[in-house]
Amino acid sequence: MQKIRNYINGELIEPFDKQYIDNYNPATGKVYSLIPDSDEKDVKLAAEAALAAFPKWSVTSKEERSRILLKISELIERDIERLAIAESVDNGKPVALAKMVDIPRAASNFHFYATAILHYSSESHAMEDVAINYTLRNPVGVAGCISPWNLPLYLFTWKVAPAIASGNCVVAKPSEITPMTAYLLSELCIEAGLPKGVLNIVHGHGHKVGSAITSHPKIPLISFTGGTKTGAEIARVAAPMFKKLSLELGGKNPNIIFADCNFDNAVKTTLNSSFANQGQICLCGSRIFIERSLYEKFKTEFVAKTKAMRVGNPADGNNKIGAVVSKAHMEKILSYIELAKQEGGSILCGGHQLKMEGEFSEGYYIAPTVIEGLPYNCRTNQEEIFGPVVTLTPFDTEEEVLMYANSTQYGLAAIVWTENLTRAHRVANLLHSGIVWINCWLLRDLRTPFGGVKSSGVGREGGFEALHFFTEPKNVCIKLK
Ligand code: NDP
Repeated sequence: MQKIRNYINGELIEPFDKQYIDNYNPATGKVYSLIPDSDEKDVKLAAEAALAAFPKWSVTSKEERSRILLKISELIERDIERLAIAESVDNGKPVALAKMVDIPRAASNFHFYATAILHYSSESHAMEDVAINYTLRNPVGVAGCISPWNLPLYLFTWKVAPAIASGNCVVAKPSEITPMTAYLLSELCIEAGLPKGVLNIVHGHGHKVGSAITSHPKIPLISFTGGTKTGAEIARVAAPMFKKLSLELGGKNPNIIFADCNFDNAVKTTLNSSFANQGQICLCGSRIFIERSLYEKFKTEFVAKTKAMRVGNPADGNNKIGAVVSKAHMEKILSYIELAKQEGGSILCGGHQLKMEGEFSEGYYIAPTVIEGLPYNCRTNQEEIFGPVVTLTPFDTEEEVLMYANSTQYGLAAIVWTENLTRAHRVANLLHSGIVWINCWLLRDLRTPFGGVKSSGVGREGGFEALHFFTEPKNVCIKLK
């Protein structure tokens, strides 16, 4: 059976204690590879390698750093087929989705930051003829990057690329549930000639490897994407050590559909924003609010189209929905569907596990589920489910729907459907959310700030925001007379 290895100091090595964790294929429910069960000893080794590499990498010219990152980007593009299949086997997502979204985006992350650093300049503030201030932006040192399982390589590289582009060295941990593409990336980094120690990848459990990174005294900045509870734990440990923190956390995003929307576009995109990646994208719109005069028409069309979505083997291009990531996660989603019933919700479609045939009979499949009849403030409408489950709720006025939309502890993304220009701007301004999409979803320009408010996170990633995070500003003031 294939053994994944840690990537430390430029080499692929076994974990210190030679212990491994089973890695499951969610589509079949079978173990197909082994993940290092690393701990703080492996993190210590990785941090030492990163610290040793930092003095040289931090003064390597930006042109040279850019050249190596571009090479990594090219190698990801070269291996798109292999990486997409690996991502699908590890995560359960359709191969077609990984090939269209996850892997191209991982290549873009490296490409984007390889070129961004060439255009990154710092500020200067002149005090008339008295003095000039200029700001230096230096890499910080060793960055800890911790990422989740839903978009494994996509989110892993979204952190690692800006961190190393701006001259830091990295100790990174992908989710223990989906480590394979990060492992394959380590092979590509070696092939691209990334100097040893610049990127170190330690595989294993969050409570061992993740917490060892967070609490390591020589890792002064942590970029984390994952659940809100884990984010709070990381903040608790990191805050007294005065670490720089970027936290991208959970969401419970509203999707607001006004009666004057472009109906066909709203239905088509809402199917995607509800069920893409089995609903396991932090940006999915899981609470759908529909203006009452459109409610019945929207419901009928949306439910019919949801029922027509094919679920099954992620490698079969006809299947829009694959398996959810793990047995434990499937059980969590099913428990929320039971909760919705107890809270008085009516299941319009789905609402159960799907049993497949043959080699997929033990896989983790859930029928896409649409629920109505729930109050906006019940647990089903307030807590993150992170699966193929959405609720439909009618509304009468703009004020009412804004109150519903802003009622959760989260504030990551929101979606608005209307052809009324002034309302679009007004509502976008009043939503408590880091990102608002109007008449679209998941349209991303990598230069824009990305992140959430309230319990959805602290700080922003994307564009120069990430380069600001991964560098420390130092102001120099020169008196002119
Ligand atoms: P988790 O918070 O469980 O895990 C995220 C990462 O943190 C994993 O690598 C995990 O390791 C690690 N980890 C767990 N415990 C600790 C700890 N004590 N210290 C340090 N690291 C730890 O999230 P999931 O992987 O379940 O991902 C789903 C969540 O991520 C959802 O809430 C989703 O909304 C959010 N998310 C947010 C995004 C955003 O941009 N805002 C984007 C995508 C997802 P291990 O896997 O081994 O437990």
